[in-house]
Amino acid sequence: MQNNNFGVIGNPIAHSKSPIIHNFWYEKLNIKANYEKILITNTKDLKENILNYKGVNITLPYKEDIINIVNELSQEVKIIKAANTIINDNGFLKAYNTDIFGFFEPIKNENIKNALIIGAGGAARAVYYALKENNINIKVINRSKKEDFLCEVDTNLKEFEFDILINTTSASLNNLLPLNEDVLKTLAKNAKIAYDLAYNHDIFLNFCKTHNKTIKIQDGLDMLVYQAALAFKYFCGIYPNEDLINGAKKLIS
Ligand code: NDP
Repeated sequence: MQNNNFGVIGNPIAHSKSPIIHNFWYEKLNIKANYEKILITNTKDLKENILNYKGVNITLPYKEDIINIVNELSQEVKIIKAANTIINDNGFLKAYNTDIFGFFEPIKNENIKNALIIGAGGAARAVYYALKENNINIKVINRSKKEDFLCEVDTNLKEFEFDILINTTSASLNNLLPLNEDVLKTLAKNAKIAYDLAYNHDIFLNFCKTHNKTIKIQDGLDMLVYQAALAFKYFCGIYPNEDLINGAKKLIS
């Protein structure tokens, strides 16, 4: 039966910081709700579990599988074929993607014309959509060939001047650089911003900073909070104000 609760579904899920963020906002806004971690080990169990909640976030490895389970897809989900937020309206499930907003919000005031997306997995699809919407020229490079991405994906680079380098790979999580050191050094020297979607794993950002003292760096913590903020609006009808956003950032840093 549907309750007034929310959660985040994934496998693994123990590391998720989303409950800290959402429960902090419920408390501050006097909303009687709870947000919990939901471990699902098999795709076939997704729907039955989602129906127990008023809304859920979806994380690895289900962001793509979920679109075959819900009743309706938002426009952006139809295009990128990945969702991270589901609303349960009395059994009718609608899917959204708030990673798009979350990714772009921290860099929305930067003057960016050319972007390099490193990696072509699920998160890169949201990044591509956000950049495209903002009329930014995009090049995507991935270590392996990808035929089913939203644009052509290269495995080698021919140009090395981009305003922003965006690491959407999971390489940092394994303490690895996503590209050959010499290539990355040249890219970093020419770039204004280095952005890693990962957080608490600074190998990529530290490398860029070492080779370009003036480069601005951005990790994935802000993205995590902003994607949660838009999901919160879908769940509760309120977009958290600046104090609440900053409070959440502090809590998870
Ligand atoms: P996926 O598994 O869908 O994609 C992983 C990508 O990384 C693929 O392009 C893969 O290449 C590439 N890759 C993995 N290891 C290496 C390596 N050693 N060198 C070069 N490329 C590598 O993952 P997601 O797209 O879902 O997530 C990617 C990252 O984004 C993770 O670090 C995740 O934590 C982060 N993320 C952060 C969010 C936030 O809110 N801050 C939100 C969502 C994701 P190949 O195709 O060849 O395998």
